[in-house]
Amino acid sequence: MSQARLGHAMQHQPKRRAFLKGRINRPLAMRPPGALEEEAFEDACTKCGDCATSCPQNIISFDSDGLPTVDLTVAECTFCNVCAEVCEPKAIDYADSWDWRARADDSCLSANGVTCRTCEDQCDQQAIGFKLQTGGRSEAQFNTDACTGCGACAAACPSGSIKFYTPKNASPHSGPNPEGKAKTC
Ligand code: SF4
Ligand code: SF4
Ligand code: SF4
Repeated sequence: MSQARLGHAMQHQPKRRAFLKGRINRPLAMRPPGALEEEAFEDACTKCGDCATSCPQNIISFDSDGLPTVDLTVAECTFCNVCAEVCEPKAIDYADSWDWRARADDSCLSANGVTCRTCEDQCDQQAIGFKLQTGGRSEAQFNTDACTGCGACAAACPSGSIKFYTPKNASPHSGPNPEGKAKTC
């Protein structure tokens, strides 16, 4: 490499390092089920938006980079694979499951002494139970083996308390609207 090119490459290394560091520190985005691994997905996705316009649940929106993300506070994902069908560059593959799992955060109404079993009522997998605590409170408990991460509980939760995590993502979130939306019980 010529001195001039070497100098140019070294000059841009800090920028590249900063870019890669930003990628590593960013919380894992909730891409549509069957999406390629994050880096491959970002490379393959053309940001055409076909997955979002085709999703019968209307749960696909876009992050600040214009890439599709799933928002389970809107509705559940039925794993219908329509997004995979319409994705021309195959950034999304067919899938009937994913790694995301649900849990309730500290804002859960039951944890704060208000009777609510909305999430339990919505869960077809019967993955949610409640453990009675003192003071009229109860703790929502999620069976990670039974949970499919479908999001039916999150969409129905009146306090937006359901968050999602994967083994790769220790910090839970629920898509682009991590605080959820207030609804009445
Ligand atoms: S699998 Fe179906 S419901 Fe789920 S994000 Fe894709 S199109 Fe929407
Ligand atoms: S259909 Fe595929 S290429 Fe188009 S925005 Fe969705 S994931 Fe990206
Ligand atoms: S994400 Fe779906 S399967 Fe998991 S606890 Fe919520 S409703 Fe049940």
